[in-house]
Amino acid sequence: MSYSPCLLKGQKALVTGASSGLGEASARCLAKAGAAVVVNYHSEKEEAESIVHDIVADGGEAIAIGANVAKEDGVKTMFAQMLREFGTIDILVNNAGLQKDAAFVDMTLNDWNLVINVNLTGQFLCAREAAKEFLRRGVKPDVSCAAGKIICMSSVHQVIPWAGHVNYATSKGGIDMLMKSMALELAPQKIRINSIAPGAIETQINTAAWSTPEAKAKLLQLIPSGRVGIPDDIGKAVVWLASDDSDYVNGTTLFVDGGMTLYPGFAKGG
Ligand code: NAD
Repeated sequence: MSYSPCLLKGQKALVTGASSGLGEASARCLAKAGAAVVVNYHSEKEEAESIVHDIVADGGEAIAIGANVAKEDGVKTMFAQMLREFGTIDILVNNAGLQKDAAFVDMTLNDWNLVINVNLTGQFLCAREAAKEFLRRGVKPDVSCAAGKIICMSSVHQVIPWAGHVNYATSKGGIDMLMKSMALELAPQKIRINSIAPGAIETQINTAAWSTPEAKAKLLQLIPSGRVGIPDDIGKAVVWLASDDSDYVNGTTLFVDGGMTLYPGFAKGG
């Protein structure tokens, strides 16, 4: 992937859950576009440090910061460290997320709380800290025409109900209204907030869905474009939503799903 390293020059980005998958791709793509990047990780410190190493070796700027996005104290400490080391934040990619699947009647309160706390409350906590700094600093026209940008990693399951994954689908539906309400409240201060809704992208979160030929064939029936996505499909969308090229895009969801939300069951008539 190659970008003009000037696209996000002088901008400071934080990507949560960036030690793997879509967060890793987002961090690498943002760095290639010129942003200095915080690679947040939860437990995968070595992986995060290796991504930082690659970015720095490539001439970019990055640091790794560990924090559980579901914990208010940890999030505040992470932002304080970022502001100490990078001075400010211009771009937040609210990416960290997980699944804890169960049939509805077997779903424990712990299964429910874990997914809501990480996927939804984690996005609220990080967005709030980022917005505070955006408001404190305001617009710096030589850096960006926005005071700040937040990109919320949602899912096609913000609109497609998902049996066996009620906690996950609910968290993503919640992200949609969190994102839109924040965007409405903060637009006058020149803060832009949007979501990306990935379809099926090959990462560790969904290995079972694509790693065997049988599973992949079944999955492809749900994807009109005929291929499973790769993490860079999302990284490229993140860079665009973070850049001034998308300055008039606010409070919307960009579906990056190979057409998964086009009701593929109707491809050959109803
Ligand atoms: P992944 O498992 O590779 O990435 C999730 C990351 O979140 C991991 O690095 C994990 O360590 C981190 N994380 C988990 N709990 C955390 C916590 N409490 N604090 C900080 N970090 C934490 O999977 P992925 O596919 O890259 O998922 C990234 C995001 O994309 C998630 O929000 C997921 O719901 C969303 N998504 C993925 C797909 C897909 O097909 N891969 C589709 C739709 C949405």
